[in-house]
Amino acid sequence: MAAWSKRLHREGVTIGFVPTMGALHAGHRALIRAARLACDAVVVSIFVNPTQFGPTEDLSKYPRRLGLDRSLCRAEGVDVVFAPDRDAMYPPGSQTIVTVPALSRRWEGEARPHHFQGVATIVTKLLSLVQPDTSWFGQKDYQQAALVRQLATDLNLSGRIIVHPTVREADGLALSSRNVYLSAQQRQAAPVLFRALQAGAAALRSGARKGPQIRRHMVRLVAQEPIATIDYLAVCDPRSLEPLATVQSQAVLLGAIRIGGVRLLDNLLVTVRTSSRRPRTALHESR
Ligand code: AMP
Repeated sequence: MAAWSKRLHREGVTIGFVPTMGALHAGHRALIRAARLACDAVVVSIFVNPTQFGPTEDLSKYPRRLGLDRSLCRAEGVDVVFAPDRDAMYPPGSQTIVTVPALSRRWEGEARPHHFQGVATIVTKLLSLVQPDTSWFGQKDYQQAALVRQLATDLNLSGRIIVHPTVREADGLALSSRNVYLSAQQRQAAPVLFRALQAGAAALRSGARKGPQIRRHMVRLVAQEPIATIDYLAVCDPRSLEPLATVQSQAVLLGAIRIGGVRLLDNLLVTVRTSSRRPRTALHESR
């Protein structure tokens, strides 16, 4: 992988990179298409990274469909599918770990200890191997995208990071490889998270500014769905991801719920228009 990238760079070819854990869906496809448009060559990595799963999580049953994933990549004009095995990425004796402490502390980090050090380590390794000019990450995993931006800055990793908007089903459910675990009844209940986030965004747009009040509004909505339990719902600063007492100009509404054994994540970034100032550019936009 590294030799191929070096050769292309010498030839002046630009490399776009989309890291994934496979079981590719239309969300991944949107990232691949964005990379295809922007770069000469596209690399998609498929690696179910063991270090980002906790001991009681779904590593062994995480959907693996390498054959189908390769077909999708071929159809999308991907140049390289990089699908290393575990020993190639973590040879015996490897010990270095990358941590991004402040951004990892809350939300997903609280629910899944060690998850983000696994993510930060594998992303650092993949970016070092692939040496992309630009990489694409999904807004669907907002905290992950914020952490990747931070580590790329802190570790002086070359290449741009672009965060792509979340791709959703018609009823608003964010596409995820884990949605296949949902039964028909659970699938019907799943859009409640998006609806709650939308209600939070609507409250903000219509003048509500108190973080706790907006949060309670979202909690009430999810509570109407008896088979959903809330992991967290939060009104946060889009950069630090700390909860906001009062929203000034922007907030990210973060949420995670459980339906049966399935954990669903989603978020909405909201810019509040003030009369005196133009809205600030969102964190994830590359302009
Ligand atoms: P994963 O295979 O779940 O690790 O995801 C690989 C990349 O695709 C990550 O950057 C995700 O944030 C992104 N992604 C996953 N689902 C979506 C979605 N529904 N919309 C946009 N990007 C997504």
